Amino acid sequence: MTATMMTPAQLARFEARLLAERADAEERLAEFDGVMTEVRIARTDATADDEHDPEGPTMTQEWSQRSAVLADVRAELADVDRAIARIANGSYGVCTNCGKRITVARLDARPTAELCIDCARQAR
Ligand SMILES: [Zn+2]
Repeated sequence: MTATMMTPAQLARFEARLLAERADAEERLAEFDGVMTEVRIARTDATADDEHDPEGPTMTQEWSQRSAVLADVRAELADVDRAIARIANGSYGVCTNCGKRITVARLDARPTAELCIDCARQAR
């Protein structure tokens, strides 16, 4: 019982959704990379100009906020990539913990889900 038991049409639908999410995450990532470069340059300038730069702490705060968002998007992208890989190897929709099928309703709500609802509850 390792097959996904999903129809090819269902799999194709999830794959399309995951690919769309991937494209979206990559777009946001590219956007953030641009912003991060700007912040980095601004920070370098500030340090070079004046040690007592009043903008210093604000810059650092913005930096860490953006870093956190960036880490989130990267994690999301990694999740989506793993889900796409599971579609390719036929293990998509199977709980990675107990091997049971993850319900389509759960995958609809969260296409990157790796655990069935029971295992997800226990993992908390
Ligand atoms: Zn499970």
